[in-house]
Amino acid sequence: MTPGLMEVYTRLAQVFGPQHWWPADSPFEMMVGAVLTQNTAWRNVERSVATLKEAGALSPEVVAGLVPEALQDLIRSSGFFRQKSGTLQLLATTIVENCQGEPLQLLAGEWPVVRQRLLALRGIGPETADSMLLYAGHHPIFVIDAYTRRIATRLGWVSGTPSYAQLQKLFMEHLPADVSLFNEYHALLVHLAKEHCLSCKPRCEGCPLLQVCARGQMER
Ligand code: SF4
Repeated sequence: MTPGLMEVYTRLAQVFGPQHWWPADSPFEMMVGAVLTQNTAWRNVERSVATLKEAGALSPEVVAGLVPEALQDLIRSSGFFRQKSGTLQLLATTIVENCQGEPLQLLAGEWPVVRQRLLALRGIGPETADSMLLYAGHHPIFVIDAYTRRIATRLGWVSGTPSYAQLQKLFMEHLPADVSLFNEYHALLVHLAKEHCLSCKPRCEGCPLLQVCARGQMER
């Protein structure tokens, strides 16, 4: 009964179509978005990114050179703005001082090495690091977030509260290591979570996975 990972991908892709993620104009903007999206809705991130753009502050050099309070004001709409501004300045300073100002240089190399490099920066956890690796660095690594966890549980792929690493292993061991597939799959799960698989009460009617979903069958 439990559907395979490729079966789920195919069903979602057929119904939702290409998602064109991550929505950003540059690798640095994408990395900034990955930091800002921690513990907040994407619409709040969009507002902060727009404010940073208007202020001409979407480059590592500018972010590294701002006084902390000024950066905090620019990203206030994303919440946790003191903590996030510290992380952004550490990220930007690292890019300026160690990577000639080139964000992609920070992401260059074998992904396990790059991942450790990112995780060593205070404020960057596995989800943020993996988002940067996949979407900006084009490394074949699957991003796990609250949406992925929710859907994987409801489909019956996992039970209890598996760790980030366990969930990631599930996807990476059962799918080919393909950047485009990982990119699209994660984006489709986000779309599904927003349209149908809501946190409190899923809208199973009309969900592309209803026929193969353990929770969906219970809801009928
Ligand atoms: S059928 Fe319901 S529980 Fe299952 S994935 Fe769809 S919305 Fe979520």
